[in-house]
Amino acid sequence: METEAWEKLCRRCGRCCYEKVEFEGRVYYTDVPCEKLDLETRLCTVYDFRSSGRPGCVLLTPDLVRRGILPCDCPYVEGIQEYPAPLDWDEENP
Ligand code: SF4
Repeated sequence: METEAWEKLCRRCGRCCYEKVEFEGRVYYTDVPCEKLDLETRLCTVYDFRSSGRPGCVLLTPDLVRRGILPCDCPYVEGIQEYPAPLDWDEENP
């Protein structure tokens, strides 16, 4: 898929911009937002240079998407069979 079409899939909901932890092979979302996420607009404040502006931010690729880092209703995971959506850390570890 061309870069522009790939980028347009994003709905800019910001839900993937919360810290995640990987534990025993599963990805969990925390309630800690990335410090570069504007919580009002839900937009990344360093989006165009996020790789350098926010060390640790990874660019989405089809292979990465399949690892289960995006919420199950994200357009990028549509159609992936048995998609391993992240779990909510607080719900799983009260
Ligand atoms: S969860 Fe999906 S739609 Fe929402 S910001 Fe992340 S990539 Fe975009």
